[in-house]
Amino acid sequence: MANPAECTIKVMCRFRPLNKSEVARGDSYIPKFQGEDCVLITGKPYYFDRVFQSNTTQEQFYNAVAQQIVKDVLDGYNGTIFAYGQTASGKTHTMEVSYFEIYLDKIRDLMDVSKTNLSVHEDKNRVPYVKGASERFVCSPEEVMDAIDEGKNNRSVAVTNMNEHSSRSHSIFQINIKQENAQTGQKLTGKLYLVDLAGSEKIGKTGAEGTVLDEAKMINKSLSALGIVISALAEGSNYIPYRDSKMTRILQDSLGGNCRTTMVICCSPSAFNEAETKSTLLFGQRAK
Ligand code: ADP
Ligand code: MG
Repeated sequence: MANPAECTIKVMCRFRPLNKSEVARGDSYIPKFQGEDCVLITGKPYYFDRVFQSNTTQEQFYNAVAQQIVKDVLDGYNGTIFAYGQTASGKTHTMEVSYFEIYLDKIRDLMDVSKTNLSVHEDKNRVPYVKGASERFVCSPEEVMDAIDEGKNNRSVAVTNMNEHSSRSHSIFQINIKQENAQTGQKLTGKLYLVDLAGSEKIGKTGAEGTVLDEAKMINKSLSALGIVISALAEGSNYIPYRDSKMTRILQDSLGGNCRTTMVICCSPSAFNEAETKSTLLFGQRAK
C-alpha cells in the first residue's frame, strides 16, 4: 500500500554514444565510468543513484529505471520521470514518448489543437490540474501508443521546424490509472507524468532577440524553478516553491507527498560538449 508521506527522488545519468558527426570530427570521448554510480569528467567525479554508459540498451534502461515506477503507479503512487539535458543529448530517445506542451509559458493541448492556451486551476482538494485538457479513455498499451502518436503528429503539424521547436518547449504526457478491485470494491488511483524538458543549453548572449530571447528566458526560468523545487524536496525543506512556474504547479502532486520522482540526466560524451555536459551533471547533483 502507498504511504502518502513517502516521497523518493532519484537522479539517474545516461550518456549516449558519440554520434556520426562527432566521430567524423574526431571528437574525443570524455566520460570515464567508475562503478555503477559515478562518472568522471576531466578527473572530477559526479555521483548519481546510477550512471548508465553509452552502450546501455533501451530495454536495460527501462528495466532499471521505469519498470519500478510503473509498478508503483499501479500500486497507487504518483510518479514523474523527467528527462533533462542539452539538445540532442538523448532526452526524447530515453522517454520514447512525447499531450500537452508548455511553450513560452502557454499550455497547448496536443490531443486537441484548437486548445492553445489552457490554464491551471485547483480542484476542491487544492490539487492543481490543467483546465479543459482533453482526456482519452484507454484500455490497452496499444491505445496508449495511438494517443502518443496522435499527440506527436499534432505537435509537428503546427510548427515549421520540429527539432528546433522541441528543443524550446517542454512536453508533458500524463497517464491516469484508475483500478477497482472486483471483490472488495476498493479503488486505487495513480498518475504517471513523462516530462521531456526543453534543451538546457545556454543560448548565445549575442544575437538573441525577439522570440528567441523570450524563449531562452522562459526556458531558463522554468528549468531553474524545477531545479529549486527538486532540491527543496531532496533536502526535506518545509517550503517548496511550486507556484514559481506552470510546470512545477501542474506537477505539484506528483513531485511531493505521495510520489516517485526520477530525473534522468542525459549527456553527450563528446569533448565538444564538455561545458554543457558539466553544467548538466551539476544540475543533476543539486537534485540529490
Ligand atoms: P534530445 O531529445 O535530447 O534533443 P534525442 O533523444 O532526439 O535528443 O537524441 C538525438 C539523437 O541521438 C537521436 O537521433 C537519437 O536517436 C540518438 N540517441 C540519443 N540517445 C541515444 C542512445 N542512448 N543510443 C543511441 N542513440 C541515441
Ligand atoms: Mg527531444
